[in-house]
Amino acid sequence: MIREFNLNYVYIVDYVPQQSQEHNKLYTFFENLKAGRLTTTRCPACTRDFWPPRTVCPTCYSDTLEWVDLHATGKVRGFSIQTSGAAPGFTLPMIFARIQLTDQVGFIARVIEVDPQDMVVGMTVELVVVPAPQNRVMWAFRPKK
Ligand SMILES: [Zn+2]
Repeated sequence: MIREFNLNYVYIVDYVPQQSQEHNKLYTFFENLKAGRLTTTRCPACTRDFWPPRTVCPTCYSDTLEWVDLHATGKVRGFSIQTSGAAPGFTLPMIFARIQLTDQVGFIARVIEVDPQDMVVGMTVELVVVPAPQNRVMWAFRPKK
């Protein structure tokens, strides 16, 4: 269990998106994440996966996108270590990595549960669902065990 968010959470600066259907058109992403699945949207017409998930295809403007599962593991293509200026509720150092999941999907995400000195390009990492305040979740990655 990750305990990073279990501090006195600063509600004036809320870094966790609202995730309910009432507040977020992409709430399915967070529902899937709570179930341990990293998902995104795909345009069936263009056969293209997007990151981040979208409600409309930027190529053909279709709004009938489907949800697809992404690999829960990826490869670190580069990384940066933040050693100062952490946002409230976060502890330093923080590691941010460019992670490639598939040919089409890669992104920058936090890497946790690793000593910064052990970070290497090419490392295989796996999804971690991180609990957040108000029954929300966020995602991060850790070295694959
Ligand atoms: Zn399309």
